[in-house]
Amino acid sequence: MEWWFHLPIVFWCLTIFTFGLIVGSFLNVVVARLPYEKSLIWPSSRCFACYTKIRAFDNVPILGYLRLRGKCRKCGTPYSARYLWVEIGTGVAFLALFLAEVVFNCHGIPGIKYDYLTSNVPPPQCWALFLYHAALLSGLIAAAAVDAEHRIIPTPITYTAMAVGVIGGALMPWPWPQAATVVSALPPEITMWNHPDYIGKIPTGVQPWPFWGPTFAFAPPGSWKLGLLNSVIGALVGSLVIRITKWLFETGFGREALGLGDADLLMMAGAFLGWQIPVLSLFVGAVAALVLKVLEVIFRPNNAPAVPNSTASTPVTPTADDQNPRELPFGPGLAIGVVVTWFAWPWLGPQLQSAFFDAFTLGLLGAVMGVGILAAALLLRRPVEVQQPVAAK
Ligand SMILES: [Zn+2]
Repeated sequence: MEWWFHLPIVFWCLTIFTFGLIVGSFLNVVVARLPYEKSLIWPSSRCFACYTKIRAFDNVPILGYLRLRGKCRKCGTPYSARYLWVEIGTGVAFLALFLAEVVFNCHGIPGIKYDYLTSNVPPPQCWALFLYHAALLSGLIAAAAVDAEHRIIPTPITYTAMAVGVIGGALMPWPWPQAATVVSALPPEITMWNHPDYIGKIPTGVQPWPFWGPTFAFAPPGSWKLGLLNSVIGALVGSLVIRITKWLFETGFGREALGLGDADLLMMAGAFLGWQIPVLSLFVGAVAALVLKVLEVIFRPNNAPAVPNSTASTPVTPTADDQNPRELPFGPGLAIGVVVTWFAWPWLGPQLQSAFFDAFTLGLLGAVMGVGILAAALLLRRPVEVQQPVAAK
């Protein structure tokens, strides 16, 4: 085959990567300004130290940062490396998403197919899927980056992304892009989908499986009402699972654990992915947060401050609507947990289907985990002040 037959895929990969860099550049503005409740569009990008307007040419993703070696052109104040990493990270994330979901269709959604050898442009449902999930990735990246830097997750990020998730859910209701008839083709005499005949056979759409058994009569498969319901339930469950865990930990530890920003993060994910993935993400996220913490301890230079203080000028206290800064940022771990669970879902989903679609098993598991969390918190409970200053004698 001649090499130029592969040009369409090369073109789209470069386009998607560039699109990711531009979105990442915007996310940097969000991360830098939202914790201080500044406007996102006014004024234009400025040096945070000398307030010189950053020239359009210096504001080009990656290149602008590298050419000036991460410093202000006028006053030489170094900028946080986060600017570079968020840009590159978003570009790579978008490219990986496009390859995984559209080109290789890793979720195995029938109707998602881009054969670049026969058509130059991916079909519309591929773009809908990609853009929908790119919005979720952007929300996760922004939330994780703000949390890592300021230990808060501003609600404008999570609520805006959640609105996109709910609207997209209504526009692309389960089992879209498959026809609703694939659902009615399932054996009708079985009312609960944890029946062995159903394991691994519930059709996947842009939204994963939504319900126990056949859907409600007022929201049939493929209707916007079902999509809306799925997103709203996903958001509620995502928020609740953190709030319950937070309550259990706080009852056990007797002091504040987790944050409402974490609940908002899973609420956002639930609006896009339905209710099962956020529940599992909490546990995967806890493992990811632990790994991040270990890496941080290994790689952070000694005596470095815990929070990189990028604003050298007057200290500004980050403000958020409903939360105080926490001891440890859980957001980055949780965001990784969501992505890992989401992409492991084609394999993980059928494994867990009998638990997720059986009210009794799920309730029992939830109760056991709740008791486990409470017991662990009680066992790990320590006095708040461990090191009491020894009085001089
Ligand atoms: Zn400057």
